[in-house]
Amino acid sequence: MTSGLPRRILVTNDDGIDAPGIRALVKALADLGEVWVVAPEKMQSAVGRAMTLHKPLRLRQIRTRWFAVNGTPADCVTLALCHLLESDLPQLVVSGINKGWNLGDDVTNSGTVAGALEGMLHDIPAIAVSLEDSPKASYAVAGDYAVRLAERVLKYGLSNGTILNVNVPASKKEPIAGIQFTSLSQRRYHKPVVEKIDPRGGSYFWIAGERESWARKTPSDHDAVEKNMVSVTPLHLDLTDYDALNRLKSWGRSLSTGRVTSVSSTQKLTKVKSRKAKA
Ligand code: MN
Repeated sequence: MTSGLPRRILVTNDDGIDAPGIRALVKALADLGEVWVVAPEKMQSAVGRAMTLHKPLRLRQIRTRWFAVNGTPADCVTLALCHLLESDLPQLVVSGINKGWNLGDDVTNSGTVAGALEGMLHDIPAIAVSLEDSPKASYAVAGDYAVRLAERVLKYGLSNGTILNVNVPASKKEPIAGIQFTSLSQRRYHKPVVEKIDPRGGSYFWIAGERESWARKTPSDHDAVEKNMVSVTPLHLDLTDYDALNRLKSWGRSLSTGRVTSVSSTQKLTKVKSRKAKA
């Protein structure tokens, strides 16, 4: 960081530039530096890290340092870092505050998380912030936690390739019980496809369904928010399963020589434990 110059912070989201969460986030971060907003002009929830490659993008100025883009969160961060702010890059990217959780396996769908990942991919420390979707949820409270974490990240940085995924619960009877550093939980859906009938008798579908959650490891993000704590999960983009990579090495020789005629126990990738459980 160049001393004497104001710090720059880029803010984006996936709920769109008119969402209350982004206004609260900008207000909260204003004390930390010069905040620039580049955000989708319309709702982009669940677009993940999609990028617009087959139609032109427009960068439309709304007011001083606020820009709307006809694209995704990843498009917004790319336009900001590789064009608008290219000559004087921000020191931090913050995405949110999203209306609703981004927990567990859902992070791969999340446009909010993708906005932060795009910042990280341009070597800028990044934070994604989401708030429980509840009438008792407070964007001001979530903004306060965002600022606390942003201050730390601006001071100490993050390890290369890592973002922070922050989920803030709605204050219930008690005030929020603190911050917990967590791993991703598993999020699964019960009957995720809902079929309905239109007025002409044809079927149509919603991907919705009831959520079923359980922890993959503790402490998980889901466990933390259930305990009325702010969950902070460090995420990186390397989805490689290193355990499977080691086990796949036993396939190498037979794949090079031809079709499988018999499989030795060392070539089976299913863990022995889980097969025993099914037997
Ligand atoms: Mn959203």
